[in-house]
Amino acid sequence: MSNGQNQEISFRESVDRMVDRALEAIDLSADIAAAIKSCNAVLQVKFPVKIKGKIEVISGWRAVHSTHRLPAKGGIRYAPCVNQDEMEALAALMTYKCSIVDVPFGGSKGGLLIDPRKYDRDEMELITRRFTLELVRKGFLNPATNVPAPDMGTGQREMAWMADTYKHLNPDDINYTACVTGKPVEHGGIQGRTEATGRGVQYALQEFFRHDDAVKEAGLEGGLGGKRVVVQGFGNVGYHASKFLFEEDGCKVIAIADSKGVLVNEDGLAIEEVYRYKVEHKTLSGFSGGRYEEGSTARALEMDCDILIPAALEGQINLANVDRVVAKIIVEAANGPITFAADEKLSERGTIVIPDAYANAGGVIVSYFEWIRNLSHIRFGRMQRRYDEIRGQNQIDALEDVTGKRVPDRFRKKINGGASELDLVRSGLDDSMRQAFQEMRATRESNKKITSYRMAAYVNAIRKIARSYLDIGVY
Ligand code: GLU
Repeated sequence: MSNGQNQEISFRESVDRMVDRALEAIDLSADIAAAIKSCNAVLQVKFPVKIKGKIEVISGWRAVHSTHRLPAKGGIRYAPCVNQDEMEALAALMTYKCSIVDVPFGGSKGGLLIDPRKYDRDEMELITRRFTLELVRKGFLNPATNVPAPDMGTGQREMAWMADTYKHLNPDDINYTACVTGKPVEHGGIQGRTEATGRGVQYALQEFFRHDDAVKEAGLEGGLGGKRVVVQGFGNVGYHASKFLFEEDGCKVIAIADSKGVLVNEDGLAIEEVYRYKVEHKTLSGFSGGRYEEGSTARALEMDCDILIPAALEGQINLANVDRVVAKIIVEAANGPITFAADEKLSERGTIVIPDAYANAGGVIVSYFEWIRNLSHIRFGRMQRRYDEIRGQNQIDALEDVTGKRVPDRFRKKINGGASELDLVRSGLDDSMRQAFQEMRATRESNKKITSYRMAAYVNAIRKIARSYLDIGVY
């Protein structure tokens, strides 16, 4: 069998090989390593639903990779290419992701093999509620043990249906809202969850650019401002990441690829305008603020740029195109966009890759906050916001009293403002992303065998998970 270095392997094997590379650098017993890597359970369901008068049998999965911490956490995707291998790979990534950013969850992932564009709203509701029924009945959805979230092809709407179905089946579970995250705010969701993964990508890059030596190693200099960015995928993650990088960090987003082509503007795209155009016309073609090249989605990956953000599907950078990828930094906003074989080549070449299990962890970090909010049955900041405002105002009053001068308006709001839930969510997310990056850097610097950020991320994840096995043992 191939070691995957010169030949493509499956997505799950690819994740495993990346973990193996990290294991080679540290001293961990083979049995603990095997326990960490193995997928604990996979549920496969096939259920009938009546669509437009005809019965359709739909296939679905929920893979639980690890239960060393509970609940096991991870999204549910609806896509025409979902399969068991992919679910297991993505569930494993969730385990490592949670560990890297210190979210105390195991890893899980689920999906339905459907093309969501083929169904209307009511049909989607029927399918989602039926799938939820299967998951609940088989013990694969529960606030304490297994908590889904949105992923490709699903969003707040699906999460609200899932939570509602669970509630009807378990009306005596006081924590029923915590059975899924990514819900609409009016149904127990949290501010800032929808933007969270894109926001996390932004915070990851901001942290990277705080370290001059890291920037230099990538062959760049200066801050994020003015850096030329290419984004593949203009769904929730690609949109939010490019919007924040453009509007708040002054990056030039020179190209955005969707599933049908690439929109290019060397002077930078106005992201909100692009987004509004896409919502209205369902395509990027015809947008006046850029040149649209139809049918060349993959070409975006080969464009000359400072930062490439693959935010679409897995396996996009592979042996067929890796030699033509010239970006200085690749930030994996999608899960598994670089195959193991391509990753080895990028690593040999010195291209900096900020790995998925860290870079796109913003979603699950804010899911963790949502889950805590649901268990505590109170919005973050509700008890202290006004109190903080009064304290701040007292400080202003005291300062003015002592100095006899008025505190300028530009400082007043900063001093007497209390944090909203969104402020607290962003602060917690930023802190988590900074902390995890610094841990990755420290690990990479501590051991010559750890050559990439990916290896460092996996070493950190494995060490934390191994500690929980070694401390408690297996049961
Ligand atoms: N689907 C997202 C991911 O891949 C979020 C998972 C979650 O919030 O549980 O990370």
